[in-house]
Amino acid sequence: MLQTSRLTEPIVTWEPELGQFVVEPSEGWHQPSPSRLPLFFNEIGASRIAIGVTAFECMGVLPPHDHPHVYLNMTEQAEILCPYCSTLYVYKPGLRRDQTAPGDCFWRQQATAPAATVDA
Ligand SMILES: [Zn+2]
Repeated sequence: MLQTSRLTEPIVTWEPELGQFVVEPSEGWHQPSPSRLPLFFNEIGASRIAIGVTAFECMGVLPPHDHPHVYLNMTEQAEILCPYCSTLYVYKPGLRRDQTAPGDCFWRQQATAPAATVDA
């Protein structure tokens, strides 16, 4: 039997304390969303950066000097040039999605991350 795109629904619960619905992705739930893509930057000015994914976003350098976060998808070419900062991203199988070479070009959206644009 063919596996269709029908996946387990996420669990949506009303969170009175927050006054909003909270969506908990259930197991097997995959929603391609740009906000979930790895985000890379080239603070060190490398001419090329090896990454472990083919679809991602580039922000150029660290905030507040980052360029508009542009969605880049290598498709079959295994490399892509960012139109904003001219960084050449090269797909390298074996790297994890949060690994880059040279290292530390993966943006970890934590504490200092700017507010997500999806928030109302
Ligand atoms: Zn860029």
